[in-house]
Parts: sequence; C-alpha cells; structure tokens
Amino acid sequence: MTDQPAASPATPPTMPTPAGTPVDHRPLDSLLLEVRDLHVSFETPRGPLHAVNGVDFDLHRGRTLGVVGESGSGKSVMSKAIMGLLPRRGRTVGGSVRFDGTELVGLDDTALREFWGTEMAMIFQDPMTSLNPVMRIGRQITESLRMNLADMDRQTARATAIELLSAVHIPAPERRYKEYPGRLSGGMRQRVVIAVALACGPRLLFADEPTTALDVTVQAQILDLLQEQQRERFMAMILVTHDLGVVAGRADDIAVMYAGRIVEYAPTRTLFASMGHPYTHALMRSIPRLADPSHTRLDAIGGVPPNLVDPPRGCPFAPRCEYAQQRCLDERPELLTLPEDPGHAVACHFPLRANAPAEAEVG
Ligand code: SF4
Repeated sequence: MTDQPAASPATPPTMPTPAGTPVDHRPLDSLLLEVRDLHVSFETPRGPLHAVNGVDFDLHRGRTLGVVGESGSGKSVMSKAIMGLLPRRGRTVGGSVRFDGTELVGLDDTALREFWGTEMAMIFQDPMTSLNPVMRIGRQITESLRMNLADMDRQTARATAIELLSAVHIPAPERRYKEYPGRLSGGMRQRVVIAVALACGPRLLFADEPTTALDVTVQAQILDLLQEQQRERFMAMILVTHDLGVVAGRADDIAVMYAGRIVEYAPTRTLFASMGHPYTHALMRSIPRLADPSHTRLDAIGGVPPNLVDPPRGCPFAPRCEYAQQRCLDERPELLTLPEDPGHAVACHFPLRANAPAEAEVG
C-alpha cells in the first residue's frame, strides 16, 4: 500500500495538454461527436448523386471508430462532410453533426475555421499533396500553430514544432525542422503530416487512408504511431480505410459502409468474431492472410457497387450478394440491432450471424 492520496471522484481526469494549448477540463469519456441522419448529395448532369444516405453514430472522447468500405462507399465524403471540408458548390448536406454540443451543419467557413486544427484535424493518404514542397518542414508546423493559436510567439512555436517532430519519432528533429519535404522518405513525410495535424491539439482526428501510399512495413509503423498519439492525447479518432486488416486491433468500434450507408456497426471484437452482413464477410475474405500459401488467389467481391444517381429500390448489395432473395430486391433493409446482441447492428434481412431478421431500430 502506498501513501498516495486517493483520486477525488469530484475531479474527473482531464486530457494531457500538448504544448501551447489550453488545459481541457472536460471529462475524458464524454460524448464528443453525434452524427444523425447525415445525407450528402452532389449535382451531376444525370441528377443528384446520393453519396451519403442517412448515417448515424456517436463517438466518445478517446475512442477510435474504424470506417471501412470500398472506394465510393461514402466513407471519405462522410468524413469531409463532418469536418465541413466539402466544396460548397453543387453539393447538399443534410442531417445533423453535433461536435461537443455545437451543430456544425449549416455553419459557414468562417465559423468552421474555429474548429479546424484546434478541435478537428484530418490526415490524408498522400503526404506529398498535404505538405507544401517548397516550404521547410518546421515552418509548415509553426504556421499552423501561429494561425490557430494567435498569441503563440515565434520561439515557442519553434520549440513546440521540434517537440512535435520528436513525438512522431522523427530522428534529429532540430535538423529535420529546416529541411524540405522532398528530402524525406514517404513514411517520414507522413510523420510530418501527423505532426502538423496534432500541432494544435485537436480533440478529433480523421485519418483518411493514412497508409495507402506507403509500403507494408512503414504502414504498420504509421498506424502504431497514430494509435500511440491518440492514446497519449486522449483524442477521438475516425480511421477510414478500405482494409479491414488496418482497423483490426486498432479501432474500438467499426462501421462498415456500402453505397453511402452504414451496413454493419459493432465493437471490433464482436465484428471479427461474428460478422453479420454478407458485404463485411466478403470484405474479410478479400484480405490476404499470412497463413495462406503463396500464389493463393484472393476472393475479390464480384460485380460493381450500385449507381448512386439511381440507387436500387431494395438492398443495394443484392446484385453482388450470394444470399439475396426476392425480399432483398423489393425492400431496403434498415440498420437494426441483432436480437441477441444490442451492440451489434446489421442492415440485412438475413444476417449471417443470427440467420434471422434483426429487430430493434438503431437510433
Ligand atoms: Fe444480401 Fe439480402 Fe442481406 Fe442484402 S438484405 S445483404 S441482398 S441477404
């Protein structure tokens, strides 16, 4: 037994504060993001393209949500819509996105700018397009710091930038501070992008396919780094990927998206133990496994995703689903919790796990 004082229940633990940012006294496990009935459509010559079609989820502080789906499933559009990063012309966003109680849908860019960097930040897949090739690395971080934290002086910004480069495991950070992005490897550049994103201590980090442009060994290092920083800073994170293997062991919950909808949502362990949606199952079968002999053919998902200008009346996955029945063509399945597991929701008339219709509506 030690003589350390017991923690007072009246004083919840607070977030560790990155250099230069104000102390955050809010409880660690509070609800940070509430997304309700989010819709996004784009005008096209053939009519509106419905890219996101009624997405609902909650995200608490310090938690990671993995969002998984093929290209065109709506996962990146959804992330950009939440952050308010979609171009304004030719698109419509409906529904509600509440960040720590503030409604973001409908805010103009000036109001949204208050959230970018200090509250929410995004890491994109290609570090070369995120970094300015003709600006030194250090300056890219200090510009972000001084733009968002107006009262930070030059010297503190420099010291903070070097601290951040060190935090993302860039060797010799004082020297790297003065270099241009082109002098670094792809993995090192992505570490710099992460440092820029973390600079102002965001409470929510979007990582959109953050390792797609990197080779396999560097991918694992970058994912480990993101996880380490997310835990240290107690950020919430939305990790967007086409690869179920990337979120395994790294996300608390997983949302599988297809045709702009969440078709399966579950805690990560539950999802991997018993996938309910045939699409999730097909995604899983398409991942290479170490145990497979070399030259094993992967199970690609046959067919193509539906046309989102003129989506099918029934289940959007029906033309590609080996379990499809007449009901699937006639009636669109809602995202419903499974009778035996209220934390696991599936949008399928015939979920694989239960082999029976789901029951309660998720909301
Ligand atoms: Fe397949 Fe029918 Fe389920 Fe759609 S509703 S995923 S077509 S079984």
